[in-house]
Amino acid sequence: MTTRLPALVVGGGPAGAVAAIALAQAGVEVQLIDRQSGPHDSVCGGFLGWDALAALGDLGLDAHLLGARPIQRLRLLADGRHLELPLPYAAAGLSRRTLDEALIGRAAQAGVVIRRGRAVRAADPAERSIRLDDGEHLKGDALFLATGKHELRGLARDLARYREAPCVGIRATLPGGADLAGVIEMHLFDGGYAGLLLQEDGSANFCLSVARDRLSDGVPELIQAIMKEAPHLADRMAGKMPHSFEAIAGVPYGWRAAANVPGIFRIGDQGAVIASLAGDGIAIALHSGASAAQAYLRGGADVAMDWQEEWRRRSRRPLAIAEALRHGAAGPWARGMLMQLLRRVPALGAQAALFTRISAPRTGGRKSVG
Ligand SMILES: Cc1cc2nc3c(=O)[nH]c(=O)nc-3n(C[C@H](O)[C@H](O)[C@H](O)COP(=O)(O)OP(=O)(O)OC[C@H]3O[C@@H](n4cnc5c(N)ncnc54)[C@H](O)[C@@H]3O)c2cc1C
Repeated sequence: MTTRLPALVVGGGPAGAVAAIALAQAGVEVQLIDRQSGPHDSVCGGFLGWDALAALGDLGLDAHLLGARPIQRLRLLADGRHLELPLPYAAAGLSRRTLDEALIGRAAQAGVVIRRGRAVRAADPAERSIRLDDGEHLKGDALFLATGKHELRGLARDLARYREAPCVGIRATLPGGADLAGVIEMHLFDGGYAGLLLQEDGSANFCLSVARDRLSDGVPELIQAIMKEAPHLADRMAGKMPHSFEAIAGVPYGWRAAANVPGIFRIGDQGAVIASLAGDGIAIALHSGASAAQAYLRGGADVAMDWQEEWRRRSRRPLAIAEALRHGAAGPWARGMLMQLLRRVPALGAQAALFTRISAPRTGGRKSVG
């Protein structure tokens, strides 16, 4: 038997949660399905830019009340050099465990029917239906696809024309340090970067992104090799391997969804994947979820393809700038030039941070730190 509903949201990360909240607040009957049964970590740096903070504020969520640590500066370390730059607006560090839980809680308050611990196994785009792990079928007038970094059979992202080798993401928790207060610290090395920031419990979130071809021998070997190239990072890790880590392979930075499936809104990382060093993925997920829900509320499922095309257009410039920065930071020559340039003209750092944003600057009432 198939249950029919107006809107189905697959995935309860920032994109799916926000879409579901907006739909439920407008009175639409909506179900959100997420395969995780409760609070969980996810491969993410936990950096919340000013635009993400403002979008959370729109939902009545104050990240600082959730324990987020304020961040005003970017510390860059590469090839034995380091520099510190002001961010254009105040940002914050918060674990995804806490952020995602707060968003799911908000969705429940808004009246979303939340089904956790249930994996969607496959989708039928023509029917706009999904099959859950126990064989149950659900059909939606519209399907909001928010599975983030994970592909759903039947609606996998079309990566056929993605020309690069996708990247690998790794996350672990490290002991925090007083010198991390107020900063997002980024260590640049060949093929990628590692980011560190303080999260709500005072520990440090350590997240790295690296070209997949560097992972030939396994994660511990990769981290050992990176520690040799980034001695400051090795110091911070006291030369030790994290006790445990999460990893994700196949992150297609720079990819954007084309509008080709009627009735399907691809949001968050299913719609556009910005290079993680821009620290804007969560904001894009929040904005895309809200924007897709508003489009549905205005025009119904029929506007999904138009919305997707518009989102593809809107995300083009921020993604392209973030890709240029990612490629520049990944190679020794351009990395050296980048560090020199930023040392001479520190304001360029703030400009780059602004240009990788998908939304107009909104500071959620918080002050510029520039
Ligand atoms: C290494 C790395 C570091 C990053 N650091 C940052 C950062 O510091 N700041 C920032 O803004 N962005 C960062 N990003 C990007 C950010 O993590 C993503 O852009 C963001 O999480 C996308 O949100 P989403 O809701 O689309 O997907 P996700 O957050 O991935 O959520 C997807 C949800 O879908 C669920 N799901 C998946 N498949 C199924 C299924 N079949 N059935 C049911 N549920 C399913 C999952 O359980 C999950 O809850 C980083 C990315 C990487 C790779």
